[in-house]
Amino acid sequence: MQHNADDNWRNRAACKNHPNPDMWFPTTRKETTESAEAKRICVQRCEVRWECGDDADRSGARCGIHAGFDTTKTAGWKDLQEFLGRPTTRVRRKARPVVCTQCGEEFQTNRVGSAPRCMACVQGLVLVEPVHDHLKWLVRETGWIHKEIATRAGLSRSIVQSTMVRRNTYMKRESAERLLAVQPDSLAAPR
Ligand code: SF4
Ligand SMILES: [Zn+2]
Repeated sequence: MQHNADDNWRNRAACKNHPNPDMWFPTTRKETTESAEAKRICVQRCEVRWECGDDADRSGARCGIHAGFDTTKTAGWKDLQEFLGRPTTRVRRKARPVVCTQCGEEFQTNRVGSAPRCMACVQGLVLVEPVHDHLKWLVRETGWIHKEIATRAGLSRSIVQSTMVRRNTYMKRESAERLLAVQPDSLAAPR
């Protein structure tokens, strides 16, 4: 393996030749007497603490205690970055615009994923706009009042009302589907 810096610091590590090297690799996320002792040795007794932390950061290996931080934990990894005076890019990624793979709307996110979906889609909501357009057309075609549409859709009148005036940007998918299914009698599929 290649290292930018001199690897000799390992020879001066306080954990080197410790009778219990496992202490630096906790098997539980909870703080134990052993993990606390390992951290104490790093902080109080190790003269190459910085080199060790730098090495852990560069390798990106989030496993075990390095420089007194449990890098397996997000908080420990973040604390290590702070100790080294480096921006915590892994933790605070900048939000960027992405297009929702379900509805096509653009939204901001700082997550990385292969198929991003906006909050509305994740919550089972859809855009009111096309449903609103459908209702306007329906009223024009039929002259139906809101109550008539609500009855045919099996929904409350207030849902029809708020869709007509576009009170919200999103609505429940099920309500939208019910409203979109309401057609003028002349267009309804023959039974
Ligand atoms: S800082 Fe801790 S883990 Fe790193 S070399 Fe020193 S004692 Fe070992
Ligand atoms: Zn979406």
